Amino acid sequence: MNALPHEDQLSPEFSARVLRDVSMAKHTSWHAGGPADIFFAPRNAGDVAAFMRQLPLSIPVLWVGLGSNLLVRDGGFRGAVIQTHGALGALERISATRIHVEAGVPCARIARQCVKWGLGPAEFLAGIPGTLGGALAMNAGAWGGETWKHVAEVDVLDRRGQRRTRLPADYRVGYRSVEGPADEWFLGARLEFERHPGINGDAIRELLERRKETQPIGAWSCGSVFANPPGNHAARLIDRAGLKGFRIGDASVSEKHANFIINHGAATAADIEALILHVQHTVESMYHVLLQPEVRIVGEPA
Ligand SMILES: Cc1cc2nc3c(=O)[nH]c(=O)nc-3n(C[C@H](O)[C@H](O)[C@H](O)COP(=O)(O)OP(=O)(O)OC[C@H]3O[C@@H](n4cnc5c(N)ncnc54)[C@H](O)[C@@H]3O)c2cc1C
Repeated sequence: MNALPHEDQLSPEFSARVLRDVSMAKHTSWHAGGPADIFFAPRNAGDVAAFMRQLPLSIPVLWVGLGSNLLVRDGGFRGAVIQTHGALGALERISATRIHVEAGVPCARIARQCVKWGLGPAEFLAGIPGTLGGALAMNAGAWGGETWKHVAEVDVLDRRGQRRTRLPADYRVGYRSVEGPADEWFLGARLEFERHPGINGDAIRELLERRKETQPIGAWSCGSVFANPPGNHAARLIDRAGLKGFRIGDASVSEKHANFIINHGAATAADIEALILHVQHTVESMYHVLLQPEVRIVGEPA
């Protein structure tokens, strides 16, 4: 593809450093999806702020952590993707019960380090294969734990490259949903835990074992596709609708966990999206419940 409309709009420094036309299949756990026009891997928070300052406001921006909750359509993303994983990697203890974490740190690393520090409950983060940034954007959670239960402050960057610190009161946080000021992204957070002096790695191992028993770990997926509707379980409804194993192209509803959609190797984003819509329509027509996707779907169709 040579139509990269934004190419000549970057400052010379960043024009030389960005990658162009990068397949998002390489940056998402579904391993599907089209190219990003511009792909930028910052060195640190100051670097990403400088990038945002010189990026014309007309260019759309998508921040990506580990792409474990993201479907980029096959036509790709007409704008700039910013990858936090690999940069924004600080993780430090700043008081007896408080830690500072940058957005690109994998959740599993936070869980392991908190165990070493004797802090908890952070074990729930161990099985979430994303970054803190993604967990803040999604209010990721598992086994009763939830990211925002631990947020004391967040550091954000706006579209003009301005950094500021915000409090939880600036956000409307719900189950797998976080609404805050528009056009801001998370650089990091201060998280508050309790002292759990006796805790050790067994707590994490047990949770990961339980996960392996019930979820198709290792297969290409984005975890649960739909949020659980109030008082019900998306997986239960999809299973009852007889959809386990239902296949479109190379994507199918997992036999092991009905709320997972698996890419068997060659699924397109269109296969996956068509399957999402099929599941949604089938469950709605049988049970009058409209399942809402938890995964974020972005970009242009092919
Ligand atoms: C096998 C498997 C199991 C899973 N289990 C769970 C689970 O138990 N609980 C759960 O909640 N989720 C689960 N997930 C989903 C996923 O891991 C989480 O939603 C995770 O928090 C996403 O993080 P990420 O870094 O991969 O985000 P991405 O997928 O890269 O991005 C997700 C969204 O967050 C936005 N985003 C990313 N970084 C930032 C940032 N710094 N600032 C602002 N916005 C940002 C993106 O633009 C996008 O809209 C699972 C996924 C898989 C594959």
